[in-house]
Amino acid sequence: MRKETFRRAMKTVQERYDTAQAEAEKRRFEISCKIPEIDTLISALTRTCTSITRAVFSKEENAKHAIERLMQENLSAQQRIKQLLTTNGYPEDYLLPRYTCSRCGDTGYVDGIQCTCLKELMIQYEIESFNAQNQISAVSFSQFDLSYYNGDAHAQMERVFSFCKQYAAQFSQDSVSILMQGGVGLGKTHLSLSIASALMEKGHSVLYLSAPDLFRKLQNEYYGKADAKIDTMDLIRAADLVIIDDLGAELENQFNSMAFYNIVNLRQNIMHPMIINTNLSFKEIEQRYSQRMMSRLLSYRCLKFAGTDIRQIKMRLQYGLSS
Ligand SMILES: [Zn+2]
Repeated sequence: MRKETFRRAMKTVQERYDTAQAEAEKRRFEISCKIPEIDTLISALTRTCTSITRAVFSKEENAKHAIERLMQENLSAQQRIKQLLTTNGYPEDYLLPRYTCSRCGDTGYVDGIQCTCLKELMIQYEIESFNAQNQISAVSFSQFDLSYYNGDAHAQMERVFSFCKQYAAQFSQDSVSILMQGGVGLGKTHLSLSIASALMEKGHSVLYLSAPDLFRKLQNEYYGKADAKIDTMDLIRAADLVIIDDLGAELENQFNSMAFYNIVNLRQNIMHPMIINTNLSFKEIEQRYSQRMMSRLLSYRCLKFAGTDIRQIKMRLQYGLSS
């Protein structure tokens, strides 16, 4: 996790705190105009608090009694304020700041430990910065061109395309996971990124990772090369949709195979969907990642991509070659 993410999350927490305080101040002003007695009581409260502090630090014999008496005064003033508020039709906590997070009072820490609200913000911002690097929002369904596909491939891709559009339109946490299968340059990345950008527009958090990057990151975290309080698995757990692009392009080793199994398992356990793109056939997946892995993927909706490598067609067209 980058320092920048932590700073940004802390800034948001601080802004929440400031807003809660400013709004409480506004309510206090409103009440002091409408119920002047409360204003008097609050001023008295401030004075008793100062007196309590002074008594605590004094070495006088009767300090203990003085503190008790002041605390009692304090308590009855608070009760009187609550009473006045309710009889005037306000909730009794009307003057207290309303924090976004009641656990930490928008300070980000509870007993010196990072609060869950701070951690959630860091995860959200980390996912956002991932996506900004990948420029997901630049890709959309409208740029997908079916005219590059001919014959049977065209009919097949028409079905795939409309499935993907519908998937994005009706997406929820219960949506099915997808396995996009097919050769290089058939539009798997394009359509999965289009789903991602459509969902992000609707406010969903989407984590897009290319397999080689993902496994490199996991390995660095596992062997302690990254100073991460929040690691990639936290992001994978938190995102509404996780997309792993180009599965099979990563190095083939036991670590990666286990890591992939853990990811699929994690998403299945929390019942959140995932999209996996791969050039590998079922047989190759089984050989590479074990049968156990393959049986997990059987619950995925499999989309077969057909056609001829679009990048090659485009290149041929660009250089005036016939296809
Ligand atoms: Zn908190």
